[in-house]
Amino acid sequence: MLTNLAVRDIETLVHPYTNLAVHREVGPLVLERGKGVYVYDVSGKDYIEGMAGLWCTSLGYSNEELCDVAYEQLKKLPFTHIFSGRSHDPAIELAEKLKEIAPVPISKVFYGASGSDANDTQVKLVWYMNNALGRPKKKKIISRLKGYHGVTVASASLTGLPANHTDFDLPLPGILHTSSPHHYRFAQPGESELDFSARLAAELDEMIQREGPDTVAAFIAEPVMGAGGAVTPPEGYFEAINAVLAKYDILFIADEVITGFGRTGEMFGTTTYKMKADTLSCAKALTSAYFPLSAVLINEPVYEVLVDQSRKIGTFGHGNTYAGHPVGCAVAVKTLEIYQRDRIIEHVRKVAPTFLQRLTRLAEHPLVGEARGVGLIGGVELVKDKASKAQFEAKKAVAAKSVSFAQDEGLILRAMGGDRVAFCPPLVITEAEIGEMFDRYERALARTLDWVK
Ligand code: PLP
Repeated sequence: MLTNLAVRDIETLVHPYTNLAVHREVGPLVLERGKGVYVYDVSGKDYIEGMAGLWCTSLGYSNEELCDVAYEQLKKLPFTHIFSGRSHDPAIELAEKLKEIAPVPISKVFYGASGSDANDTQVKLVWYMNNALGRPKKKKIISRLKGYHGVTVASASLTGLPANHTDFDLPLPGILHTSSPHHYRFAQPGESELDFSARLAAELDEMIQREGPDTVAAFIAEPVMGAGGAVTPPEGYFEAINAVLAKYDILFIADEVITGFGRTGEMFGTTTYKMKADTLSCAKALTSAYFPLSAVLINEPVYEVLVDQSRKIGTFGHGNTYAGHPVGCAVAVKTLEIYQRDRIIEHVRKVAPTFLQRLTRLAEHPLVGEARGVGLIGGVELVKDKASKAQFEAKKAVAAKSVSFAQDEGLILRAMGGDRVAFCPPLVITEAEIGEMFDRYERALARTLDWVK
């Protein structure tokens, strides 16, 4: 029986990333409050937030310091834009902090309000810069199949997932996709991780040659693919990719919207995977999701071009109202302070072995073909036959079924294409809570096995 709130939801909302026809039948999960790694629905039932919301609530759900700093900033100066050279203290302080911790050689910070608009900015900067440099042909951007970079027209084009393109008339021309680095699913039989990485790098090299190196401007990648299935890269992958990009003077954009700020056990996934990125997008854990904020970290050569262009044509014509919102920046400054003060990355390193041990143990289950992760992020893939890696029919939605059993068991996870399930709990999760999270999913898997039989 649908509750009153559920009926009102169905009558009023279009939910993002939802099967809208199914939603009309089953209704919403209505959450009311959160504490630590737990969220509670309107009936009071508890759930472990195994996805940190959408890979974002890194400090959990009841961080009073973040609430206080937001409230104080709201009282002091709830809004000022930073157009036309206007500024405020939190925006400046945050940019200084980001410069200190960035894993790429950054010169300046450009703010946005979401991961999508950060990547949209990256695309526009690449185009703008190459026009300014008198290289109007050097505009193509290469992304990866199953990569996820957002939903604006440009960032959805970068995204390599069919649902973001079908019937939206995307991707835009000039945005190309190379193969996904998912070894378990796409390596040839017997192909080692290193050989697979070398093959993908050679394929990228061929794509650049085929397109013409003077037409390819940039490459974008997430250190760990998120929405494409919580996929960690194979051994040697980014080292091989770095070499190809360097050969053709192609800008490397790291999309650290999920991995930024400790997720992989280091401040940035770029460092974990030795990515020689030139520029970086971050969001989500930048504020622990207590306020929408994103940032593009811009290197000195790109910044110099922007300044030169202003000398020639005037205003740099890009930016949105809430870019550098004072409340978001104040919350982000406090979030970064807490990461440092409470040694959150050390905590991630301490609990990650338990997380990864329980994650990889799932591969003993008859339905789990792959279970792999890094730090506090990982994915499992449910398969019909482990020996042949044969998949279930997509419309059977087996991973989604396991996630709905998990929800019954009090655990929120996310099912993705290819019957993959992601785990990405708040970074503050304890070892005991990790144990409880996997106990709940193991019960969900047992129910899924009964259901598929
Ligand atoms: N990039 C990555 C790697 C993401 O995971 C996401 C969102 O999940 C985005 C970009 C887009 O961010 P947003 O949903 O804030 O627009």
